[in-house]
Amino acid sequence: MIIAIDGPSSSGKGTISRLLGQKLGFSVLDTGLLYRLFAYRTLEQKIDPNNEPDVSSFLNDFQLNLSDLTIPALKENTIAQAASIVSQYPDVREKFLEFQRNFAKNPSFPHKGTILDGRDIGTVIVPTADLKIFITADVTVRAQRRWKELQERGIMCMFDDILSDLKARDERDMQRSQAPLKAAPDAHIIDTSTLSPQDVVDKVMSFVKKIHP
Ligand code: C5P
Repeated sequence: MIIAIDGPSSSGKGTISRLLGQKLGFSVLDTGLLYRLFAYRTLEQKIDPNNEPDVSSFLNDFQLNLSDLTIPALKENTIAQAASIVSQYPDVREKFLEFQRNFAKNPSFPHKGTILDGRDIGTVIVPTADLKIFITADVTVRAQRRWKELQERGIMCMFDDILSDLKARDERDMQRSQAPLKAAPDAHIIDTSTLSPQDVVDKVMSFVKKIHP
């Protein structure tokens, strides 16, 4: 079984995917990390993320090493912004397409299925997914969650900066021509603004049970 979870930044996709993965015994891929890692390596090489030709030519040197997906700096806001810039480029999206499809279709033993979270999982990566969820929440609520998460990790930041960063990323993710952020026509849309993670997991589990009673 393949579950596609899409939605904007800080909507809670990551938490829900992790909790569902534990509950169902499925492997989970946070696809944003792929773009974050690539953006991180781009910045490391002093390449301007806005310079599409330079970013595209760096793709030839970039090797995806899965253990790098745990690099703590990938969580930083500057990396998120750079990821949302480089992920607009068709070559960059193409680079990670097969990896994501393979992950979706081949759960690692002993997992019985896969969960991928991102922006285009249900629309582009696996349009044949058994279950598609689109998680959304009010932008102010998402900024509050993100601000709290950063505070808890000891990263000091201004709430207004977080809010404007999120708005800028939403805008770029939704307006880009390649795989824009949008709900697949057959996705279940869940607004998490007033829901707890457990409420959302319960909702998704009710959809899972309809497919596999
Ligand atoms: O989900 P996360 O915030 O980690 O993603 C970082 C950026 O990577 C997003 O703002 C988005 O531009 C890009 N992304 C994407 N497609 C995905 C996952 C993330 O374009 N499937």
